[in-house]
Amino acid sequence: MGIFLALNLLVANVLFPPSSPKTISLPYNVFIANLKAGDVTSITSTGNAIQGTFRHPTAASAKSSNKALHFTTQMPTFAGGQLETLLEQHNVTINAQVQSTPALLELLYSFGPTLLFLLIFIWFIRRTASSANGGLFSLGRSQARLYDPERPSATFTDVAGIEEAKAELEEIVDFLRQPAKYERLGGEVPKGVLLVGLPGTGKTLLARAVAGEAGVPFFSISASEFIEMVVGVGASRVRDLFAKAKAAAPAIIFVDELDAIGRSRSVGPSFGGHDEREQTLNQILTEMDGFDSRQGVIVLAATNRADVLDSALLRPGRFDRRVMVLPPDRVGRAAILKIHTRGVPLGDDVDLNNLASQTPGLVGAELRNLVNEAALLAARKGRPAVTMADFTESLEKVLLGAARQIVLSADDRERTAYHESGHALLGLLVPEADPVRRVSIVPRGRALGVTVQSPVDDRQNYPESYLRARIVGALGGRAAEKLIYDVVTTGAESDLQQVTSIARQMVVRWGMSPKIGPLNLSEDPSDQSSMMMSQHSYSEATAQVIDAEVRRIVEECFEKALMLLDENREKLVALTGALLKEESLNEEQILQVTGLAAKPKALPPPIRGIDGRVAAGEPEPAVPSAGAG
Ligand code: ADP
Ligand code: ZN
Repeated sequence: MGIFLALNLLVANVLFPPSSPKTISLPYNVFIANLKAGDVTSITSTGNAIQGTFRHPTAASAKSSNKALHFTTQMPTFAGGQLETLLEQHNVTINAQVQSTPALLELLYSFGPTLLFLLIFIWFIRRTASSANGGLFSLGRSQARLYDPERPSATFTDVAGIEEAKAELEEIVDFLRQPAKYERLGGEVPKGVLLVGLPGTGKTLLARAVAGEAGVPFFSISASEFIEMVVGVGASRVRDLFAKAKAAAPAIIFVDELDAIGRSRSVGPSFGGHDEREQTLNQILTEMDGFDSRQGVIVLAATNRADVLDSALLRPGRFDRRVMVLPPDRVGRAAILKIHTRGVPLGDDVDLNNLASQTPGLVGAELRNLVNEAALLAARKGRPAVTMADFTESLEKVLLGAARQIVLSADDRERTAYHESGHALLGLLVPEADPVRRVSIVPRGRALGVTVQSPVDDRQNYPESYLRARIVGALGGRAAEKLIYDVVTTGAESDLQQVTSIARQMVVRWGMSPKIGPLNLSEDPSDQSSMMMSQHSYSEATAQVIDAEVRRIVEECFEKALMLLDENREKLVALTGALLKEESLNEEQILQVTGLAAKPKALPPPIRGIDGRVAAGEPEPAVPSAGAG
C-alpha cells in the first residue's frame, strides 16, 4: 500500500516540479468531487475545456503537495446537463460559456490582433488611473478583498481521526470564545500554532473548525501565492491581512503552505525570486512580534515539512506551538468515513469498519475522495445505494489514479495479465501472504496493472515468513513472465526495488540473516532512504556479506516463486484468461477461477497493492511501515 502512495508522490513530483506555474490539470471526476465539496468558486468554459478557481489552493490528488488556486479540466462529451445544476447548487460563478466553433475561431483569428491591442490599451489606461492614487500600495490593498473573512460552519464534529490535534486546539477555541478570562488570569496563550502533517490529513479543515467552534472570523492565505508576486506586494498584503484580522478580533489567521515562504534561509540556492519570499516572511514575523495574543488574533499555519522551516519562525512568541496532524489509524479512518458518508445512501453490505481496515495509510482527503468516487460509480451504474463493491473498485482509482486511455498491443496486454496473475496466484498459494482482494489490468497512473492484497492492519511486527511471502509475491510477476515467455521485461522494475528493499532490511535491520547475525546495521531506522546511500558504519567486508545475503534471500524467493507457478501452471493460465476477458477480478472471482480456498478471515483485511507492471521505471522504496522490533 505504501508503495502506491510513494509512487503517486513521485509521479506528482516528476510531472509538477514544485515551482511550476500554479495551475493544475484535474481529471473530470476530481473536478466534480471538488465542486460537490464546495471548493470551486468560479469557472470559465470554452467548448469542453474548463478553467476554474478553487476556494483554497488544492492539489489534484490528496498526496500531491502541488497545490494551486487555478485548475483546468476537460469535460467528457458524454457528461451532460447535470453540471450546470451542480454549479448552481454550489454557487459557482460561471464566467463565460463560449462554444469554440470553427466559425468563431475564424472570427478570433481575424479580429484577434485588434482585440489584443484594445485590451492592452484598456489595461494601460486602468493602470495609469490606479497608480494615480497610490501606485504599488493600492495594488496591495486592492487585492485585500481576497482576504475578506469567512465564517466557517465547520466544527470539531466534522473532523475525525486526529483526536490529539483536536484536543490540543481545544484550548485555543476556549481562549477565542472568552479572551477576557485569559486576560484576567494573565495566562500565556500561543500566538502562532504550526499544524504539521501530510497533505490531506485535515490541517485546513482543523483550522476552519477552530474558527467555527469559536464562532470567530477566519482569514486565510496560502503562502505559495506570494512566490510569484511582484516585490512588495506580498509584504503589503500581509500587513493588510493582519490589520483586518486585528480589527475583527477575536479572529483566526490561517497561513497554508507556510514552507513555501518559510523555508530556512540557510538552505537551498538563493535566486532572485527569493526576495519576495523573504520580504513576505519578514513581514509575517514583524506582524507576529507586533501584537499580543491577548488581542485575540491567533495565527495557525500549516506545513507538511517542519524540518525545512526557518528557525526564526519557530522562536518563542511566533510559531512556538506545534501540533502534529498524523494520518488516521483504523478507528480514525472509520470515523472519517462515517462523516463523509453522512449524506450518502449505503447498501446493506457496506461495513465502514471493514473498509477502514482495508485502507491503512489513507488520509482524510483520500477517504473523502474514496466516498465520492464510490458514489459516482454507484450513480453511473444506476444503483440506489453505494455497495461495498463500489468502494473496493474505487479504492484502486484513489490509490493509483484514474484509468488511462492507452491502447496496449495484444501482446503487451497478455504479458501484463500473466504478470498480475503471477502476483495474485502467489498471494493465494503462499500461506503467510496477505489475502488477494483484487487484480486488474486496467492501466492507471504509471502502472499497467495492479494486484491488491491486504495485510494485517496497524501491524507492528513482521515475522520472517511474512516478509519472505511478500518477496515471493512481488517476484510473482517476473516469475510468471519468465515461465511463460522465458524472457523478462522492464515491467518488473518497481517490483524488484520493493523486493530489494525488503530483503536488505531483513539483513541489515532485522537480523534475519544467519551470516550477519542479530545486528542492526542500518544507519537510522526511521530514515529508510539513508540505507540507500553509501554511508556505512561497517567494514567493506561486511558490506560484501550483506550484498551476498540479500542476493541469497531474493534468489531463494525467486526459485520458490518459479516453482509454485510451475506447479500451478493451469491455474495461472486460467487466471490470465479470465483477466484478459474481464479486465478486473474481485476476490470471489479470483477464488472461483483458480479453484482455491479463501484464507481464514481471522485478521482484519487492510489493503496494499503490489504494483503491477510499471510503464517506465520509478523507484518505490516500499517497506513494511512502522517500527518492527
Ligand atoms: P490539509 O489542509 O491537511 O492538506 P484539508 O483540510 O485540506 O487537508 O483536507 C481536505 C478535505 O479532506 C477536508 O476538507 C475534508 O473534507 C477531508 N478531510 C481531511 N482530513 C479529515 C479529517 N481528519 N476528518 C474529516 N475529514 C477530513
Ligand atoms: Zn509487478
